[in-house]
Amino acid sequence: MNTHEILEQLKIVIVGHVDHGKSTFIGRLFYDTDTLPDGKYEQLVDIAKKRGVPFEFANLMDSLQAERDQNITVDTAQIWFRTKKRQYVIIDAPGHKEFLKNMITGAASADAAFLLIAANEGVQEQSRRHGYLLSLLGIKQVVVLVNKMDLVDYSADVFNTIEAEYRAFLKQIGVEPITFIPIAAREGLNVAHKSKQTDWYTGKTVLDMLDDFSLPVAPDNLPLRLPLQDVYRFDHRRILAGRVESGTVKVGDKLVFAPGHKTSVVKTIERWNSPSTDKAVAGESIGITLTEQIFVERGDVAMHEGTSSYATTQFEAKLFWMGRLPLSIGKKYKIKLTSQEFEGEVLAIHKVIDASNLSTSTSKLEIAKNDVAEVTIKTRVPVALDTYDRIVETGRFVIVDQREVAGGGIITGAPAASIASAENKPSNLTYNKSTITYEDRIQRNSHKGAVVWLTGLSGAGKSAVANEVEKELFIRGMHISVLDGDNLRFGLCSNLGFSPEDRSENIRRTAQAAKLLAETGFICLVSLISPYRSDRARAREIMTEASIDFIEVYVSTPLAECEKRDPKKLYQKARAGELKDFTGISAPYEVPEKPDLDIPSDQLSIKECAARVIDFVLARVEIDAQTDVSI
Ligand code: GDP
Repeated sequence: MNTHEILEQLKIVIVGHVDHGKSTFIGRLFYDTDTLPDGKYEQLVDIAKKRGVPFEFANLMDSLQAERDQNITVDTAQIWFRTKKRQYVIIDAPGHKEFLKNMITGAASADAAFLLIAANEGVQEQSRRHGYLLSLLGIKQVVVLVNKMDLVDYSADVFNTIEAEYRAFLKQIGVEPITFIPIAAREGLNVAHKSKQTDWYTGKTVLDMLDDFSLPVAPDNLPLRLPLQDVYRFDHRRILAGRVESGTVKVGDKLVFAPGHKTSVVKTIERWNSPSTDKAVAGESIGITLTEQIFVERGDVAMHEGTSSYATTQFEAKLFWMGRLPLSIGKKYKIKLTSQEFEGEVLAIHKVIDASNLSTSTSKLEIAKNDVAEVTIKTRVPVALDTYDRIVETGRFVIVDQREVAGGGIITGAPAASIASAENKPSNLTYNKSTITYEDRIQRNSHKGAVVWLTGLSGAGKSAVANEVEKELFIRGMHISVLDGDNLRFGLCSNLGFSPEDRSENIRRTAQAAKLLAETGFICLVSLISPYRSDRARAREIMTEASIDFIEVYVSTPLAECEKRDPKKLYQKARAGELKDFTGISAPYEVPEKPDLDIPSDQLSIKECAARVIDFVLARVEIDAQTDVSI
């Protein structure tokens, strides 16, 4: 085995309803990949024979686990298995009572997931609950295994029905599984080898699929986050110890310690039992010394100047509660976030979601065991944190109740004003005769301004998508506004009709208003049919002249579908001749030739459409780390 192979490693998690075959599947994986310790399989077959019971692959897993727990013969390496391509680690063991807790708290993290559903029982409560957790944790690579196909006569119909039902569920929570595979873990059907019994299945085996999973992106490329575990004093030196959670740190780097915003420069990087070097990357536990002694302590997070994080006493989160007692508003809890420990309380519960059926309730004052909730949390002292989608390690936390981890959460947003402690320092703002520059606004907002122009037929879903995007970005603390075509016609454009000239003027005014907003740092979403290419091109020109990013989004629901929806009954009126110049019926709609983004809103939910817009927009408005204004 060469070094390269050792490095290529993927962490997988195997989830699913109890008894749907997770342990059996793992046993089978080990067997088929020849990973078992010599003689182990034969030993267990022998034991089963002596006891007069059938051999169970699931027992293999239990026996390895037991040995691992006792630390005899089997070391942790043996929960690894290999294919030709690389090594895999199965994180934790299903059935283990800490399993779910470890996943949600981040004690264990996975790059990919297999979710098992037994063909004879179909989608069950935990199938849904675990699917929801995967979505919450942002695990994007999900393969669904429909197990125990032998119990349903290898029926394609059963498989297809389960696939359709579960796909529909996953769609609602924004998870797009890579594929569904029919298997029988006990027999090894489609695990390592294709089987004739399911000749209707033309996809890959589990092992081939595994090797298709992508490796995680190393967090070294992310902004630096080095939470301090401890500060040691040796002679006159002080060594700050911690684990680099993300990014890279080098000797000579100027560091800012959040949330207190103290700065100093890295003098040396120390390692236990190995010589000091001038660089350390994510995943390494190191000590650093500084050129200038400053008072920092456990819990402070070192980062580079110019990479914004939050220093805040309030944040938004999605919380999974598993405490014996329900979580209640206003009760003080201990919260742990990296090495920070602080007191906090839930200020508001916005929504409680039952993960098994996705029903939501907006009026609860408590969060019961196994519920997921969207909450606002208030802390007693300022805390350094990031949103989970930006930096996972500083974007999640756990809540302790009765001395136990009782909940885990991911951070979805914080007030924009709290971005990077020092970004708000007046000394860093350049006031120009009380005129705030665009750079100042970027600095304050931590994102650039932009105009996102949603065009499409009436009823295509532009406003709904715009509203959803607005809400999501607002929650993230971004500066966002919507200029809605209908709303504009109530005021700014109330004197305009629907002739081509009036439509052009309508678009010109809207574009100018959007420009003003974007210049003041807003991401301005425009939701307007804007049927003519030339008008949209003019809007783009207005922005380009002002150096504002213009993103054209085509909400491309076809006419027939829009007419079927007809939310405002306008198509009906247009068909009846009661409405003149109605786009699609009696006036043209010129489809964008090269939109920046095409959203087929007839095939996606509003949330999915919004997610695509958000991904696209976030990438465009992000401040380049290199050119970022300093904190
Ligand atoms: P877990 O709770 O998800 O880990 O499920 P187990 O792996 O313990 O399996 C539960 C039961 O289902 C055991 O009795 C297994 O032998 C059985 N089982 C697992 N896979 C298959 C399969 O492919 N076919 C059949 N017929 N039974 C299976």
